[in-house]
Amino acid sequence: MKQGKIAIIGAGAVGSTTAYALSLQKIVAEIILIDVDEKRCRGETLDLTDIYALSPSTHIRSGTMKDAEQSDIVIIAAGKRQEEGESRTNMFEQNKKVIKTICSQLIGIQKNAIVIMVTNPIDPLTLLAQNLLSISRNHIFGSGTILDSLRLRKYIGAALSVSPQSVSGVILGEHGDTQFAQWSSVQINGAPLCHFQLFDESKKKEIAEKVKKEAYEIIACKGATFFGVASCVALLCRAILYNEKIALPLSCFLQKENICISLPVILASDGIISYLPLSFNQEEDKCFEKSVHFIKQYQI
Ligand code: NAD
Repeated sequence: MKQGKIAIIGAGAVGSTTAYALSLQKIVAEIILIDVDEKRCRGETLDLTDIYALSPSTHIRSGTMKDAEQSDIVIIAAGKRQEEGESRTNMFEQNKKVIKTICSQLIGIQKNAIVIMVTNPIDPLTLLAQNLLSISRNHIFGSGTILDSLRLRKYIGAALSVSPQSVSGVILGEHGDTQFAQWSSVQINGAPLCHFQLFDESKKKEIAEKVKKEAYEIIACKGATFFGVASCVALLCRAILYNEKIALPLSCFLQKENICISLPVILASDGIISYLPLSFNQEEDKCFEKSVHFIKQYQI
């Protein structure tokens, strides 16, 4: 069953690849690409509509912010991307302006719409969108550390020669340099990581560092990252459209600190429907605090 209408604001590498991932999954009736660069948007749309000839399920077109206001899901992937070696937070001032402009154009957004922030730095920009848009906070979240968590599972799986799908465990905190692996949550099909001798402190450190540095490495090699994040955003859209109630680390509101930060939550058609309890050991607690303090520096 296909349903719904998804607007993607920012038809660059991330936005157009997200449209591609969504159309291959055949989970949504209509995708609308919106970009200030109309020529690029037209090119990406035309390219994507070629899929329609093979698989006429998802209708893709270019549109305007009016279309975004009428959509069920609005994905924001507009703005500056990281240069080689640049941190995500370095783009804060520039992308803050982009998000303010976009939010000012979404005054008439549907009350029950869901907004997914993908633009970096995700955590302060998610809070900005929550403060500017007239919909509830649990309907606005950032893709957060879901991609980092998948990278963590990929590397643990490779080290142990098991499928990443048999690995559970998350990266939490900032989607950026102060993120941390919640090692105490890692399990291989239910077996805690402490049963695997290979995973001493130095192995854990090596893997957490690889995860943290992966985006930098991809950007150094090819200028941008988009396949991984696009697949993650498509997964989020499916969870919303099909009310899947899946547990994921997403950037969402932490009331006591007045910030958005990646926490383990449940995602369904009504957005973030609950927060899972945080269960940190002493070290993870310190890492979380560090991330909280770091994000707080970025005033919106
Ligand atoms: P890109 O340069 O390929 O595309 C960005 C697009 O945004 C451009 O086409 C530009 O014209 C458009 N844009 C700028 N201002 C706009 C506005 N006001 N309204 C509509 N469109 C506007 O960049 P990209 O590689 O697609 O990256 C986009 C963003 O996604 C960056 O901030 C990047 O850091 C972020 N990103 C996030 C993740 C993640 O895991 N969350 C991963 C990769 C990239």
